Amino acid sequence: MIAEVIVDITSGETDRVFDYLCDDDTKVGARVLAPFGPRMLTGFVVRLKETTDFDRAKLKKVKPTEDGLPALTEECVDLAQRLARRYAVPLALSLRLFLPAEMRTGKVRELYRRYAFLAVDSTEISLPKSAKNQAAAVEYLAVNGKTDCALLNKQFPGSVAALEKKGYITVVAEQVKRDPYKTVEGEAPARTLTAAQERAVNTIKTDSRTVQLIHGVTGSGKTEIYLTLIAECLERGESSIFLVPEISLTPQMLAQLRARFGKNAAILHSGLSAGERFDEWWRLRTGEAKIAIGARSAIFAPLENIGVIIIDEEHDGSYSSETAPRYNTFDVAYLRAKRNGCKLVLGSATPSVETYRKALSGEFGLITLKERINKKPMPHIQIVDMRKEVRRGNNTAFSSVLKEELENTLSSGNQAILFLNRRGYSQTVICKECGYVAKCKACDVSLTYHRDEDCLKCHYCGTRYNMLSGCPDCGSKKLSYAGTGTQRVVEELKKLYPTARILRMDNDTTSGKEGHYKILKEFGEKKADILVGTQMIAKGHDFPAVTLVGILDADMSLHFNDYRSAERTFQLITQVAGRSGRAEEKGKVVLQTFSPENDVLRFACEYDFEGFYDMEVSLREGAAFPPFSKIVRVLVSGEDNKKTLDVLKTVYFALEEIYQNNQEKFLFFNKMSAPIKRIENKHRYQVLMRLTDGALLPQIYAVCMQSRSRDALISVEENPANLS
Ligand code: ADP
Ligand code: ZN
Ligand code: ZN
Repeated sequence: MIAEVIVDITSGETDRVFDYLCDDDTKVGARVLAPFGPRMLTGFVVRLKETTDFDRAKLKKVKPTEDGLPALTEECVDLAQRLARRYAVPLALSLRLFLPAEMRTGKVRELYRRYAFLAVDSTEISLPKSAKNQAAAVEYLAVNGKTDCALLNKQFPGSVAALEKKGYITVVAEQVKRDPYKTVEGEAPARTLTAAQERAVNTIKTDSRTVQLIHGVTGSGKTEIYLTLIAECLERGESSIFLVPEISLTPQMLAQLRARFGKNAAILHSGLSAGERFDEWWRLRTGEAKIAIGARSAIFAPLENIGVIIIDEEHDGSYSSETAPRYNTFDVAYLRAKRNGCKLVLGSATPSVETYRKALSGEFGLITLKERINKKPMPHIQIVDMRKEVRRGNNTAFSSVLKEELENTLSSGNQAILFLNRRGYSQTVICKECGYVAKCKACDVSLTYHRDEDCLKCHYCGTRYNMLSGCPDCGSKKLSYAGTGTQRVVEELKKLYPTARILRMDNDTTSGKEGHYKILKEFGEKKADILVGTQMIAKGHDFPAVTLVGILDADMSLHFNDYRSAERTFQLITQVAGRSGRAEEKGKVVLQTFSPENDVLRFACEYDFEGFYDMEVSLREGAAFPPFSKIVRVLVSGEDNKKTLDVLKTVYFALEEIYQNNQEKFLFFNKMSAPIKRIENKHRYQVLMRLTDGALLPQIYAVCMQSRSRDALISVEENPANLS
């Protein structure tokens, strides 16, 4: 038999696929060792065939590995090929998504580890004087008994092979599993479902549509519905995939899942080491674990016979990949659901405009849960007008209302969360006295301040505006063009409340393996009174003692330079508010803004998703933003400016041809410098397009694929979350 083998997938700028001879029992997806010149390379079988265009006599033969099972299922190989075509990337790049790091690099830590122990009594062993390492190893084994061969060889180089040859030691292979969950105990019995939950489960099972959206307010019991669906799959022997934003995999959530599903679940989260990840992945591959739980990348879990795929918090930005291939998790999930004939369940309290539109149109099933399980009302959200604070001379990050509420919270022994936007990120210009925001005249999105050029730019059309010296509406000189950082908020807090215990959580404090778990755990154990943080703290955490949430700068999100800023703000407020008053005591939310009359904030405070959606969808339609159009950016970046420009020209001319032939499908088409002209010494240029729909995407991808060059990287982004 002949196998098409892709080798060396880590260096995947171009695919290296070659024909090899192979054993008859070789399977598609198998990891093999392929002779390549003088070297042996790790490869994966992507196709089997009877004939070859090459001289059969000259073909070399691949060596099977001892994996026992093909590393990739046929479905995964097939899916990788589809994704490579869809996103115009080399197959190597999309195959990598399906493999844990250790397997990709070929440095698979053995599934079996070798152990050595003495075969004869140490007194019967006589070694030449020169064999110091061997003697030391014997001594070690006499004291410690059975020992990992790798460890022996590290301490006493060469000892294992030499001693084994002489018959002094016995070497055995034993399977090893790193168990990341040693500490989690207990059992969590399934709850009796409420009538609403029961109905939801039945609808999902019986409705004919593949995609089902659960739109349920925070605390309406969505998670319990997911877990019931998963448990039912398990009973039928089917597997399932449960996706959550990484940040939602809190210690509480992990414990709950462990207790409920035990070893049946493989939970892939950022707290695992590469080795642990690999073991979890392998447990899924062998079928020992049937439930894959994790962030975006868990959609590539090596499962067969999938019974349900769940995407919780479906609106979350983390479901779009920001590195090539820039896949959209929903698209991959949909392909897998279709292939497995199973349901794809989306859940959110604030579905994305795009998803909700499809649910309303009947393309997706729609299940609405309006009530919280405990029937408790959502916390009251109070809007505070920061313009008045500024006029009164208060230039701190805290309004008087918030200060008063903070004092109440601290004196009653409860906890508070203070939320602000991504640190130092937003550079929107806002007038602190009247709330004026600088916007692009053509696009109606907020302009971004570029410090290096001291100007304002629209990221959707590239138009440049002079920096303002004062507010065009009221003449005030009090313009703000940067959000407050978490650090400054903490400093101000310390001055106001010297005895309060304060924790800070942002990108700076959460690096490292367990960064955010640790901070959340401390806060959960009431080792602090106030938690200050960014977006990170908005999701999935359940702190019963939190009775106050402060949103310090709603504007930074509201006027972010993105057509989705209103949607993101609504989602954020709803989510953050959901953190307050989860248990017995009623919660409160204080929302500070320079635009108190803004409709988005008003709808968010009333928890009126439908109202918000109706308004937003008509605005998007009017302005021809997605889902009523498709924004495509082709980014070209490279170290040599001239060569990068040359590549840009090549791409541009090819794209221009598409544009000339399909003008009716283009709302916008132009080439320009990227808003940030250089990142990490790479010059950046872009061709920006707004299309009426996605029909031309395959052509655009094809053109970019053909223009590929060593001199500059070309990447295609669809509706990019960040046009910088
Ligand atoms: P959501 O995912 O919609 O935010 P959860 O599933 O977290 O909501 O449920 C909110 C709370 O209600 C949780 O504390 C959960 O344990 C509890 N809960 C959910 N379903 C039930 C049920 N059927 N009976 C009792 N408590 C429930
Ligand atoms: Zn003003
Ligand atoms: Zn514009």
